[in-house]
Amino acid sequence: MLNIVLFGPPGAGKGTQSEKLIEQYNLTHISTGDLFRKHLSEGTELGKMARKFMDEGNLVPDKVVIGMVDEKIKSSSGVEGYIFDGFPRTVPQAVALDELLEGKGFPIAGMLALDVPEEELKTRILSRGKQSGRADDQSVEKIENRLRVYFDETVPVMEYYKKQGKYHPVHGVGTIDEIFQQLCSVIDSLEEHKA
Ligand code: ADP
Repeated sequence: MLNIVLFGPPGAGKGTQSEKLIEQYNLTHISTGDLFRKHLSEGTELGKMARKFMDEGNLVPDKVVIGMVDEKIKSSSGVEGYIFDGFPRTVPQAVALDELLEGKGFPIAGMLALDVPEEELKTRILSRGKQSGRADDQSVEKIENRLRVYFDETVPVMEYYKKQGKYHPVHGVGTIDEIFQQLCSVIDSLEEHKA
């Protein structure tokens, strides 16, 4: 089993790269942003609750996020590995994820962190917003708030994985394929290490 965390600021390309990595390594995708958007579109209680946080670009409370991920892991079977995308976003979420996986006997093999300059992120998110219509991708203020939240609450997660020797930075600017190749070479080295 190969479990990895794909990390990076909003707009870093986690969703795009996840799609390619899933196919390459036969992984199961757990994107908390996608899960929340699904709840929102289905009008569930959880979706209604999450909406006010998401629209403003704030984080949904840890307890809710962790519960949702726990449920997702428990309801999947015969999985070869997970790729976590947009999760963990706080240190308590990272601790909870370690505990959830400990029960399965397969810890996180590595955290791959996409590194993209802030100006580039804003441009990418605004252009994505034009196509996707995502409420949180529409205004510069909302985007700036998400970036602030990322620097304040999410960046400490990097330190958490660094201490475990699992942090692998990857330059997130270039063509989709160039970045994908770099991610693959990190993952392949993790797998060799394992074998
Ligand atoms: P992006 O990475 O572009 O900001 P996501 O799709 O990952 O977007 O997340 C959208 C929103 O969903 C976040 O701004 C936040 O409100 C909520 N969210 C997603 N994942 C988490 C998480 N792990 N913890 C708290 N809130 C989350």
